[in-house]
Amino acid sequence: MTESVATGWNLNNSYARLPKSFYSSISPNPVREPKLVILNSNVATLLGLNVQKLQSVENIAVLAGNKMPEGTSSLAQAYAGHQFGHFTMLGDGRALLIGEQITPNGERFDIQLKGSGRTPYSRGGDGRAALGPMLREYIISEAMHALGIPTTRSLAVVTTGDSIVRETYLPGAILTRVAASHLRVGTFQYAANLRAADELRALADYAIKRHFSGIETGENRYLSLLQEVIKRQADLIAKWQLVGFIHGVMNTDNMTISGETIDYGPCAFMDRYDPATVFSSIDRSGRYAYGNQPYIASWNLARLAEALLPLLHENEEKALEMAQDAIGNFTKLYQSNWLAGMRAKLGIFNEEEQDEALIKDLLEIMEKNQADFTNTFRAITFGRYEETGINGTNEFDQWVRQWQARLERQQESKEATKQLMKNSNPAVIPRNHRVEEALDAAVNEGDYSVMERLLDVLSNPYDHSEKQMEYCTPPAPSDRPYRTFCGT
Ligand code: AMP
Ligand code: MG
Ligand code: MG
Repeated sequence: MTESVATGWNLNNSYARLPKSFYSSISPNPVREPKLVILNSNVATLLGLNVQKLQSVENIAVLAGNKMPEGTSSLAQAYAGHQFGHFTMLGDGRALLIGEQITPNGERFDIQLKGSGRTPYSRGGDGRAALGPMLREYIISEAMHALGIPTTRSLAVVTTGDSIVRETYLPGAILTRVAASHLRVGTFQYAANLRAADELRALADYAIKRHFSGIETGENRYLSLLQEVIKRQADLIAKWQLVGFIHGVMNTDNMTISGETIDYGPCAFMDRYDPATVFSSIDRSGRYAYGNQPYIASWNLARLAEALLPLLHENEEKALEMAQDAIGNFTKLYQSNWLAGMRAKLGIFNEEEQDEALIKDLLEIMEKNQADFTNTFRAITFGRYEETGINGTNEFDQWVRQWQARLERQQESKEATKQLMKNSNPAVIPRNHRVEEALDAAVNEGDYSVMERLLDVLSNPYDHSEKQMEYCTPPAPSDRPYRTFCGT
């Protein structure tokens, strides 16, 4: 048996059977001295890969893009996208799809090397990635998964032994990203831009087969495709809002068809509740601020609908009407998911008309008093109001009385209410200062223990026990706001 078979690699390339315009076949650019710095045994197991064997020299060469497992050929995907509102032709400029791993359960996952070198889509870029940002993606994507939020996963990070040039020299690294697929809104924009109905149809059929096989035989499968993507995104964005996740660069090329969160560049979690929160250094207008995310999602989905128009109906007006109905539905679905999630955060089981006002009142008080988003919900879960930092204010005390009166009006026990809240309000999120601390130790000291401990804590975000508490502290107030960067 060969090493790659023994490891469990079982790669297939269904994407490569799309028309040639959707990708470029390329082989990776070897790196000097690959070294495995972190490996995710849970993801390895999910994929049917042997954790021990993955650490062999031969397999580290695979994770570094120095060698392909048998039976696969690598490619870079073509796509387009609206970046900060401007349409651009794009593609994997620093990533390589080595294939789709078929798991022992028969599931299919893209295996992508991010930071693997130049491709025909690299434009001016070097095709490489720095260690810090790849570890950051690893940490945050795994934290998101543990929070119950659909996301790409991270299998491993290897350092390359090569330096890359940014403002300074940085250690190069490659992240192995695992995704239900890398199909994006931008892939459909790319297809529509080809102005070849066959190619657009081929992509849509491929997406349906891969993600929505249940709609294959429906009356209008392309309308169903649009509706299903809208449904998944309405679910996803509500989940982001409910934990204070800010993606930071919601360009249409960074929005998946599968409904998974993708592309952890300048993302970060909000500490103080403020809808205007932005971390990304390049988002000067606040386009991708926390409070804007649902609107941007709807805008992006309208771009998907536009791309699909020729498939929706032969009559342009009818197609447009279908698209508009579908997009209009996003806001309703999102609102309803958000409201359901917020009710759960407050321990509310049944529905009353005034629930939304109760929720908005709390958020308003939090915003006005700069309360920490995560910790406020955790504090009220346990009735430890002093930990909100806003108790003693008339408005908050009055809100608590209203909320408690609301809880009295449902049949569930106090224990059941508390359990619902514990399951809906994370104790720990990847706080920016803790992530930075872990990255600093790993990148600058070669000490991965801080990161390992952080990953361990983040793998149980709804564990409210004492051992997690040290990770709940918000960052000390600082006069320099936290800033994130993309493209490193
Ligand atoms: P992002 O903002 O991460 O979504 O990236 C936008 C586009 O830029 C994608 O098509 C990337 O592949 C490409 N890109 C980002 N960084 C690099 C790089 N260092 N070299 C080449 N292409 C890159
Ligand atoms: Mg991207
Ligand atoms: Mg990126």
